[in-house]
This record gives sequence, C-alpha cells and structure tokens, in this order.
Amino acid sequence: MKLGVAGKVIRHLSYSSVSMFMRCQTQLWFKTVYGYSRPNGAGSLGKWSHKAVEQYFMRLVEGHDPMELKPFLGIFEKAFDKGKKQDIDWKGDDPGVLKTRFLGTKGASTQGVKVIAPRKGVLPIVHSDHLPTLIPEAIEHKFEIEIEAMPGCSFDSIDVVGYVDFYGTEKGKRTKQVRDSKFRGRKHPDNEEQVDLQLPLYAMGMEADGMKVGSVVTDQIIHKASGTDIHTLARRPTEDQKQRVIHAFQSTAKQIDRNGDDPNNWAKAPPGVWWCSKKWCGWWDHCPAGGGGNYVK
Ligand code: SF4
Repeated sequence: MKLGVAGKVIRHLSYSSVSMFMRCQTQLWFKTVYGYSRPNGAGSLGKWSHKAVEQYFMRLVEGHDPMELKPFLGIFEKAFDKGKKQDIDWKGDDPGVLKTRFLGTKGASTQGVKVIAPRKGVLPIVHSDHLPTLIPEAIEHKFEIEIEAMPGCSFDSIDVVGYVDFYGTEKGKRTKQVRDSKFRGRKHPDNEEQVDLQLPLYAMGMEADGMKVGSVVTDQIIHKASGTDIHTLARRPTEDQKQRVIHAFQSTAKQIDRNGDDPNNWAKAPPGVWWCSKKWCGWWDHCPAGGGGNYVK
C-alpha cells in the first residue's frame, strides 16, 4: 500500500489513524500533512504513565523482580519534568496538582506544626493493586498484517501495523489475554466503538504471529480529584468484531485513496461533537471549521 496525500506518503494504517479518520477525516489530513499538533495534558499524562507501566512489565519479561515503587514513580516524574518544558496545552488544569494526583503525597513530618496525611496517588495504586495481578509474556509486541483492499482502490492490499501493550495472563488464570490500559479523567462507555476495534485488531495481530488470544481486556484507570478507580472490561474477541475491524480498515483506506490531496475533500467532524473544539482539536486554528484558519500553518 502506498498512498500519497499532498506530498506525504502513507505506507500503512494503524488503529489510531483509522479511529482518527472515523472521528474526523480532516484531522487525519492535518496529521499526515502537518505532522504535528500541540500535545494536551491528558494525553501526556497517559503517555508518561504508560511508559512507567511498560518498563515495569519489561523488567518482568526479562526475568527480574518486580520494580519497586520508587523507581516506578521516578520514570513518570522524569518524563513529567522533561515534558513540562514542551508546549503542552494543560487546558486550564494546574500541572503541579496533576503531578501530585499521579504521584501521591508523602506527608509532612510530625515534628512540623502542620501535619498532612499522605495520600495515595494514581500510580502508587496502580503499582500496589493492579500490576501485581498480571503476568506479562510480551510487551509492546509489534505486528504487521495485510488486509485485502476493496475493489476500485489504487492498491491491492492494506498494510496494518500495531503495537500490543500487553500479552500474557492474570494470576490464577490460564487464558491468554491482550490487554490495554487507558489513563482517563472520566470513564468511557464499555461499548465504545474505538475499544471494540482496537483490541480485536490486536488479537488478530497476535494470532497472525502464532499466539493464542482467549480474551481482550481494557483497564480504564480513572483519575479524578476525588480518587482513582480501575474499571476492567474483559470480553472474547468474536469473528463479528474482527470483520468490523477489517471493514473499518478497508473503507478508511478506500476513502483516503478517493480524498486525495485536496483537504476540502476530507469530511469534517459532525457538527456539535466535543472533539471539534478549540479545547480538544490541535488543528482548530488551522481548520475552516475552527477559528477561521484555511488549512495554512
Ligand atoms: S476543527 Fe473540527 S473539523 Fe477541523 S480538524 Fe478539528 S475536529 Fe476536524
């Protein structure tokens, strides 16, 4: 597969490209042609937390003991302090408050006048309650599969690439799982379309590489000022879901092929959706649907 878009080349599709395209075709045009949007606070917190979790599991896969809490938090803290220097859009949130929410507080010395009770943060809870329940066998496993293109495309097949966060089991269970952790400020519905596409695709990727997948599991780690909740949704990847994944990639690839270079051919987000807003779309100021931009940087 080789698709040209305004001088840029798309050689493969991933879950995130397809899900972006389904939300708003124009966003994918911007992503492909501009290649950059201002990172937001929520996405950055998820990325840094994900990095700590990934390294925790990587140590286990390499045969080491579980990582202690201090270095685990240190991975997040280092990434946070480095990331703070970037132009992150915190959307009105205080990054210092969020950092404390993720790392927790240590508590003040009782010799001081004021005594602050230590408070568990998001990551200490994940470290003590969630990670020890899982046994990883492969982390960030890269897969590549080929899906037949729809008739009428300028290519015969679609190259799909993905990285599976976690493949392994839960303690006390034998079923092989593909698992994904989402750090979020609010819980998404259990039947959200993106979740249903992403994990069946990852199951297909692992199976293509000869590994069995009995269930796919989403862990939504909800971080709110009032505390942390972990919601787990496990299900069997069905043939129906896999067919939906194939169809989503086929129709996305065909539509990109048709849209071509002109951004006016790429559909905009439906009116009124939350992600088509200055707060959530990194290309708002460049898009005619947003602040009066006209596809110019
Ligand atoms: S402003 Fe709206 S239509 Fe334009 S790229 Fe963003 S989400 Fe899409």
